[in-house]
Amino acid sequence: MSESIHFSTKLIKETVAVDPQTGAANVPVYLSSTFHQKDFDHYGKYDYTRSGNPTREALEDAIAALEGGVRGFAFASGMAAISTAFLLLSAGDHAIVPKNVYGGTFRILTQVLGRFGIDHTFVDTTNLDEVEQAIRPNTKVIYVETPSNPTLAVTDIRAVVKLAKAHRCLTFVDNTFMTPVFQRPLELGADLVLHSATKFISGHSDVVAGLAVARTEELADKVYFLQNALGAVLGVQDSWLLLRGLKTLDVRIRKSADSAQRVAEFFTTQSEVRNVFYPGLSDHPGSKLHAEQAASGGAVLSFELEDEAAARTFVNHVQLPVFAVSLGAVESILSYPPKMSHAELNEEEREKAGIGSGLLRLSVGLEDAEDLIRDFSNALDFVRNHEKVTVRSVD
Ligand SMILES: *Cc1c(COP(=O)(O)O)cnc(C)c1O
Repeated sequence: MSESIHFSTKLIKETVAVDPQTGAANVPVYLSSTFHQKDFDHYGKYDYTRSGNPTREALEDAIAALEGGVRGFAFASGMAAISTAFLLLSAGDHAIVPKNVYGGTFRILTQVLGRFGIDHTFVDTTNLDEVEQAIRPNTKVIYVETPSNPTLAVTDIRAVVKLAKAHRCLTFVDNTFMTPVFQRPLELGADLVLHSATKFISGHSDVVAGLAVARTEELADKVYFLQNALGAVLGVQDSWLLLRGLKTLDVRIRKSADSAQRVAEFFTTQSEVRNVFYPGLSDHPGSKLHAEQAASGGAVLSFELEDEAAARTFVNHVQLPVFAVSLGAVESILSYPPKMSHAELNEEEREKAGIGSGLLRLSVGLEDAEDLIRDFSNALDFVRNHEKVTVRSVD
């Protein structure tokens, strides 16, 4: 039975744990930093919440089971999880990282880890030759984020794992965009999965959190040591909120992804939209590969309008999405990468990364797809009319 259950069933099985003492259908919020020891010589399972807490542990066990790893870890943010993971490396070690990696990951590599002698090379991880050429004798980790942000470029997880194994490196995968509902990197051979649980796993724009799951006991022991040593653990109440968010992850992300597919298809029919980036579209360069390693295009897409003025007009005329950073929530979130997530790049670097001045990223929420499309269609009318007005005024 347990072998054949669907992921949605497993999700509930792993997140609903009846309290053995009271029968409560939810894991209690154990707001306690310390735990009484009954025996002078033999201490219980829990002693201090940084080292372990039953509420946080319920969340950690759930994410470990869902990602198919041996042990999960909850951190105070996605960046806390990612930073802790990079501290598995030592001075003199080297990591290979996608050049379009999440901005916070870029920052910790370029401005912090270098001071401790941990080196890195940025490559286009969608190009396996580039990845292979960057491998050095001291390379310890190949880091993957797929699909990437904001152009949704797809990296072949299995192929990177193969390269990494051949060179005795570990593979870390940031699985924030897909979640275990759609993509399970450990099953593809990766060693460590990382999440900004702030996004889809929380799902309600109300918690900042990070998760990590290790494939082997050996790696899990090292991550646990660092989690406890560095201490960037997730708080007890936030752990509980994340467990609550996790229970509805499957229905939320599936509905959002269905709508994202429809919205992406709609954008491809609009003349004001120059480009649509969504791995669920058959003409996306990574769509075939993505379908081999993930079950859906996901709930995030990007689209490119003519220029910044067009993007501004669009944002000023949509009614449904919030205009904000972040993604993966019940409400649709529209963001402008050139001034938000990728503001630290200069214009030339942005163009190189495929982030044009008219690019907008959309995280599709749980609104009805038809209403969203009507809203976007209306905003595009303003873009069209604005262009006409601009052209006339130039004449
Ligand atoms: C948001 C995000 C992060 C960082 O997570 P925080 O929870 O904001 O610290 C890392 N990776 C990706 C892909 C993200 O979207």
